[in-house]
Amino acid sequence: MPIFSQPDFDNHEAVHAFYDAATKLKGFIAIHSTARGAAFGGCRIWPYADEDAAVRDALRLSRGMSYKNALAELAYGGGKAVIIGDPAHIKSSALFAAFGRVVQSLAGRYITAEDVGTTVDDMRAVARTTQYVSGIPQDTGYQGGDPSPRTARGVYEGMRAAARVALDRDDLRGLTVAVQGAGNVGYHLCRYLHEAGANLVVADIHAQNTSRTVREFGATACAPDEILTTQADVLAPCALGGVLNRDTIKSLRVKVVAGAANNQLATAADGERLHKRGIVYAPDYVINAGGIISVAAERDQTVDSDEVMARIVRTYDRTLELLQRARDLNYPPHEVAEELAREIIGKAQAASQMAAA
Ligand code: NAD
Repeated sequence: MPIFSQPDFDNHEAVHAFYDAATKLKGFIAIHSTARGAAFGGCRIWPYADEDAAVRDALRLSRGMSYKNALAELAYGGGKAVIIGDPAHIKSSALFAAFGRVVQSLAGRYITAEDVGTTVDDMRAVARTTQYVSGIPQDTGYQGGDPSPRTARGVYEGMRAAARVALDRDDLRGLTVAVQGAGNVGYHLCRYLHEAGANLVVADIHAQNTSRTVREFGATACAPDEILTTQADVLAPCALGGVLNRDTIKSLRVKVVAGAANNQLATAADGERLHKRGIVYAPDYVINAGGIISVAAERDQTVDSDEVMARIVRTYDRTLELLQRARDLNYPPHEVAEELAREIIGKAQAASQMAAA
């Protein structure tokens, strides 16, 4: 399987393939950059169609982690692990122990945590064989643990900033937000939005997730195949990546897109398409950094919970500054965000090369 000629290969420092015959653990760890510190990013379990799809995802997700960590001013680089398989069937404590051994063998170049398909209990199982894991509740200091509620808080703040730029208001009261995916992050985002007085339209392929938001937050249920064409003020993609593409963008009926899902733009050209349609897109890796801010604080043994929350709430300022700059330059926001992230990473690379010379 070619790696260096993949379109998503972006001078990644390493791509590790791993396999464990006893547990059938199979997957990849992609390390995009360690220029700013250890490559930090979650572990995803997904039934990828083939190995190429898994590598592609690892390459894209790890690059996104480099950008996310750089823009959130975390002293970490970007990496991601993907395990091939259906999380409903392959999980076992032996599999996670085997995965932990792989992570441990990288001696701290990569640090793992939860992502789609993995939970706090899974990370506890990983922690039996590696110290390079986060997202596990702590007894003292900052509690840490499941990053999803913190991710949701950051997305909520980023959405407020996007509403400020697109709709000239950062109070979401009375606005309609269409949420695609009411899982770990989507559910908590719905809670924040409900508390802020927004109207919710929610779709999830698992009906019980949708009904929970109807019951608890008065959401209107929507069919999964209609959520992207729902008339609303804001669309919040909180399921999987690639939802903003040539086909879907044409029929969006919103003024803002701001959600948690990683890699929402199928291609960079889709960011341009949104811009041309006058839809303000809050880049995913700018507004969904709350979770990594939380697991990084846990890793760094930060003690002050208020300080961690304050860092997450600053997502509002970061997003506002970025979107205002994009508007002033008349550039698509994803281009401005990428340029800024690359500049920060480039400076760190130059500094480490100088130090090594
Ligand atoms: P999750 O698996 O708990 O939730 C995703 C939800 O989307 C599930 O309920 C699933 O049923 C639903 N879904 C899948 N396909 C759908 C479709 N076509 N239409 C409607 N619903 C659909 O995952 P999560 O942890 O909530 O993460 C959601 C997204 O946010 C992912 O892309 C993830 O990478 C990203 N993200 C998560 C975190 C975090 O802290 N968990 C941090 C950063 C980014």
